[in-house]
Amino acid sequence: MAHYDTIIIGAGHNSLVCANYLALKKKNVLVVEAAEVCGGLGASHEFHDGFHASVAHQASHFPQKIIRELRLAEHGLSLSGNHQACIGLDRDGHHVIVQGNQVSGIPENEVDAYKRYLHLMQRYADMLAPFWLRAVPPIGNNSLPETMAFAELGLKIRLLGKEDMREFFRMITLPMYDLMDEYFSHPLLKSLLSWDALIGTKQAPRSPNNSVLQLLYRMAGDSHITLDVPTLIDALQRAAVSRGVNIRTNSRVCDIVVEQNSEIVKATGVRLESGEVVTAEQVVSSADPKTTFLKLLGAEHLEIEFTNRIARIRDDGLVSKLHLALNNLPSFSGLSSSAGRLFIAPNLETIEIAFDHAKYGESPVDPVMEITIPTLENPGLAPEGQHVLSAHVMYTPFKHKSEWDESARAELTTKIIDAIEVYAPGIRSLIVGQELLTPVDLESRFNTSGGHWHHGDFALDQLLMMRPTHGAAQYSTPVSGLYLCGAGTHPAGDITGMPGHNAAREILS
Ligand SMILES: Cc1cc2nc3c(=O)[nH]c(=O)nc-3n(C[C@H](O)[C@H](O)[C@H](O)COP(=O)(O)OP(=O)(O)OC[C@H]3O[C@@H](n4cnc5c(N)ncnc54)[C@H](O)[C@@H]3O)c2cc1C
Repeated sequence: MAHYDTIIIGAGHNSLVCANYLALKKKNVLVVEAAEVCGGLGASHEFHDGFHASVAHQASHFPQKIIRELRLAEHGLSLSGNHQACIGLDRDGHHVIVQGNQVSGIPENEVDAYKRYLHLMQRYADMLAPFWLRAVPPIGNNSLPETMAFAELGLKIRLLGKEDMREFFRMITLPMYDLMDEYFSHPLLKSLLSWDALIGTKQAPRSPNNSVLQLLYRMAGDSHITLDVPTLIDALQRAAVSRGVNIRTNSRVCDIVVEQNSEIVKATGVRLESGEVVTAEQVVSSADPKTTFLKLLGAEHLEIEFTNRIARIRDDGLVSKLHLALNNLPSFSGLSSSAGRLFIAPNLETIEIAFDHAKYGESPVDPVMEITIPTLENPGLAPEGQHVLSAHVMYTPFKHKSEWDESARAELTTKIIDAIEVYAPGIRSLIVGQELLTPVDLESRFNTSGGHWHHGDFALDQLLMMRPTHGAAQYSTPVSGLYLCGAGTHPAGDITGMPGHNAAREILS
């Protein structure tokens, strides 16, 4: 029976990043994935005859460092591209278009405000960038390198200078609504700039807490190139296989196998659904923390306080995905091209009201969404001349009043298509197939508790040295030889590979 240095549970992009780093150091790695294909929420699947889509449709802050170190360009990842256009759609065709530091569709005084805002936010994002790519030390009893890591962050903040430093601390917990009000008056611009601060977590424009931090996390990318997710997953998979990583799909892990020696519990392998046990020196899980600890490991191997903290993680997803198979390219009124990220969110109030409905288990009356046409970049996703529309729809609660019965699904789908039709008249007549994935579907199809974007809310009490909780926030866990490497760890979700990179670093050290 084969014995491995490391078994990684799940073949999402973070596992593949982690596996690549371990294989670069000559570790003998097995990746076991429940699904038929690699990629997790980034995996491409056929949702209608000949039409493919991935739940995560774009990677906008995947670090150059990982691309370079894993030599992903040699494995098929194309790095050409520009800042992507972000377009706030307007009913009358007066769209707001933001592309890097260029913005159009707003008055001149707002253009100046935008440039000031962008400059300041980018400064803060650049300052924080290095801290997303390393473990955050625990609080207390720190080693010298750990103390130095805190000191370095302190120094970076200090180097902002007195005024910007004061502003950073003031701004960091502001609701997006207030931050936007301080800089802008144009409603479409405000909602467009708030999107990345809100999507994927339980935050609305008026919520205080951490939406600004989430925005800075997403602005911290050093590539400024948006990567097509299926192409990135292919490159990661090819690179891993070329380095000797063994990947087994259709192999669900049912248990993490442990050995108990007096007080010490040690992970020694995994038991697959087929009953097969595979052993290794280390087990690394990219499954979300609740799945890892409560389902695969079992609370009997953990202290009660740790178990309670894991059980309390807030991970009810709020984002649904709609995929449309279109027999032609849709035309959005007033736009010469549908390339980029198109937003239907006329103002912050509409976003807030959608969130209010979700709080009470209801679908939004006016859904707000981000749309892309991935076939413009990757025509192979649909039959020749045909297209895929991919929409992230915010504030669709995991715990829906109707438990997402057929009528709730049909009602939401109709509302989303009605909303798109306002900006792309005639789109309904192009639809030849469709798929709606609510958070409940995402949970069951992608083996992710709550169908949550980040495997657990991006919230101050679930971040940094508290992500997923103390005792497991530096990728190691209370069980010897068991590590985490998925989105539920620092820094968080999105297609960034950062948790996988950081976990590999800790495992190798
Ligand atoms: C609706 C939606 C849209 C999104 N869109 C974007 C986007 O456009 N851009 C972006 O950057 N991010 C997006 N995200 C977030 C992003 O997809 C995730 O944060 C990211 O995929 C997390 O990667 P991961 O590798 O940590 O985990 P996952 O992608 O969740 O992969 C984990 C893998 O582990 C496997 N697994 C779990 N349990 C077991 C088991 N017991 N045995 C074997 N295998 C197991 C799963 O099958 C899965 O393949 C989106 C998320 C959602 C929900």
